[in-house]
Amino acid sequence: MIPPLTGSTISENLPNMYDDIIQFIRKLYGETGEVFLHEPVFRGAEKDYLIRTIDSTFVSSVGEYVTRFGEEFAQFVGAKHAVPVTNGTAALHVACLAAGVKPGDEVITQPLTFVATCNAISYCGAKPVFVDVERDTLGLSPTALQSFLETQTRQENGVCVNRRTGKVIRAVVPMHVFGHPVRIREIADICTEHHIVLVEDAAEALGSFVDGRHVGTFGMVSAFSFNGNKIITTGGGGMVVTDDDNVADWVRHITTTAKLPHAWNYAHDSIAFNYRMPNLNAALGCAQLEQLPRFLASHRATAAAYRDFFANRNDATFVDEPSGCKSNFWLNAIMLGNRTERDAFLEATHGNAVMTRPIWNLMNRLPMYAGCQNDGLKVAQWLEDRVVNLPSTARDVA
Ligand SMILES: *Cc1c(COP(=O)(O)O)cnc(C)c1O
Repeated sequence: MIPPLTGSTISENLPNMYDDIIQFIRKLYGETGEVFLHEPVFRGAEKDYLIRTIDSTFVSSVGEYVTRFGEEFAQFVGAKHAVPVTNGTAALHVACLAAGVKPGDEVITQPLTFVATCNAISYCGAKPVFVDVERDTLGLSPTALQSFLETQTRQENGVCVNRRTGKVIRAVVPMHVFGHPVRIREIADICTEHHIVLVEDAAEALGSFVDGRHVGTFGMVSAFSFNGNKIITTGGGGMVVTDDDNVADWVRHITTTAKLPHAWNYAHDSIAFNYRMPNLNAALGCAQLEQLPRFLASHRATAAAYRDFFANRNDATFVDEPSGCKSNFWLNAIMLGNRTERDAFLEATHGNAVMTRPIWNLMNRLPMYAGCQNDGLKVAQWLEDRVVNLPSTARDVA
């Protein structure tokens, strides 16, 4: 990839077929310097809450903002429990453990995802199995999932067993790509039918809904991320969401070193994690959550502008929200004609200091996941060659 130009130097002597797109993005963002992919926006009570936290001395994992952030987040997504943790990867790790994923198990996920999904599965000692995605949602295909389970697995003592490996397929982890919901209802039904636990990687999808119900509330447990590039940020942070009281209690316990509540005694009842979100980060989270409705409106307006711009072009197609869904449009995306055109687009935009990004390399191409079973992944490969993200920072947020 061509490194971005620094400062505000824009090369005007490089005419190319994507000049009008570059000009459009610059106009959208009113920016003559670098246009970033997704910058955090702090226009609310962030500084106020941070100062209050510092003044209170409760900067670590006990404090009013940790409790408040969890409660307000649960309310926003319409879940019973939300437990703030140190990052989205930790949230996924704990979510997979809560789903019962054990060493030697297998977990089905999609090959088009951020590497954290597979890493979390691996932390549990389990192995990912890659099943293909759909063109319109970019996420796990219920049809491909059903067909894989029907042809490659059998039911044995109430669990799903992979015929090829003899291992238990304990969980399915679909991911809502760039905030576009996967066909989660269909996936949930398939999981129930095959006795597999559904865990949602909703890291990118805060503010995304299926038939009015927030994503991350369809599975037994789900994970969100508040990394610096996500739709709201806590610097680093994540959330484990569930409706199950026992799961929520266990998650709170296992993310706080499994310490038994006591005024002064240090007793712990299992090997556990230090995964709880510090109060400083939660303070940021509370302030960001207050602005989420404005961020969502802004992302929707940006998506509408891109949708209109790309409507009549034959060299690129705008990736819209799937039918029946409301996407947060966290990162807008387009599809180019093929890999050559994709690379030309990436070079043209980067050469003009407009940050764009190709969709991830398929997980099964990474050395540590190269040996994992897959179903051919035809659609994933097709998308890998074509999809790029466009600048999507929230605009005009008062
Ligand atoms: C960001 C992200 C994560 C991990 O979140 P971190 O907070 O960066 O650990 C996991 N899965 C997906 C799909 C993500 O985009």
